Amino acid sequence: MKPLIIANWKMNPQTLTNAKKLFNVVKKGVKNIKNVEVIICPPFIYLPTLRASAFAKGYGGLALGSQNCFWEDEGAFTGEISSFMLKNIGCKYVIVGHSERRRYFKETCVMVNKKLRAALANNLKPILCVDSINQVKRGLKGISKKEIKKIVIAYEPIFAIGTGKACSISKAKEMNFSIRKILGETATILYGGSVNPKNAKDFIEKAQFQGLLIGGASLNPKEFVKIIKKVSQI
Ligand code: PEP
Repeated sequence: MKPLIIANWKMNPQTLTNAKKLFNVVKKGVKNIKNVEVIICPPFIYLPTLRASAFAKGYGGLALGSQNCFWEDEGAFTGEISSFMLKNIGCKYVIVGHSERRRYFKETCVMVNKKLRAALANNLKPILCVDSINQVKRGLKGISKKEIKKIVIAYEPIFAIGTGKACSISKAKEMNFSIRKILGETATILYGGSVNPKNAKDFIEKAQFQGLLIGGASLNPKEFVKIIKKVSQI
């Protein structure tokens, strides 16, 4: 399996022009890299334009994902975006249960579980963010083993997100193995939290993750492409 590198742009950049610029620089930078799957998760509002821009100049190996979804497909849910809509607009992945959503929008594991089910029902690949074994178990509650195989897990310790203080390789590896014990050897588990060009390789080579979820560094195209190149050399 190719390593996955996921860019979580969060609520950035502020303009569509800058979103297109960022996307296109990354697209150009990874054009010749075939052994890493790169997924860009921009704010919802940029998705249609970036999809069009990706296809317009040749789909340079970038896939699109969203940062959140709602659990119903349609209806009177003001301000929400459904998995159905995201699939329809060209998304392949959706981030679910990011710690910022849990913290600022009070998302619970019950809500996260509903979102995972909706994403799976619409053939979107969910990336479930967790910072504990408890969140793994509660998030996946009642979901069949067959469906769980389609879910990517991102271990993102809260202390490491956006702080510049990445988790130690030994602690990350320990969590990776604990999650794998629950989900089975073939589970796809990523690391996220202050990844940069210096530490990226170690999380894959030494801590044995299948990829990375990257926030801050994904907004700097030079840094982001550097990370992808390093991972492609493993
Ligand atoms: C994230 O928001 O998922 C994340 C990993 O952020 P950062 O890389 O900035 O720590």
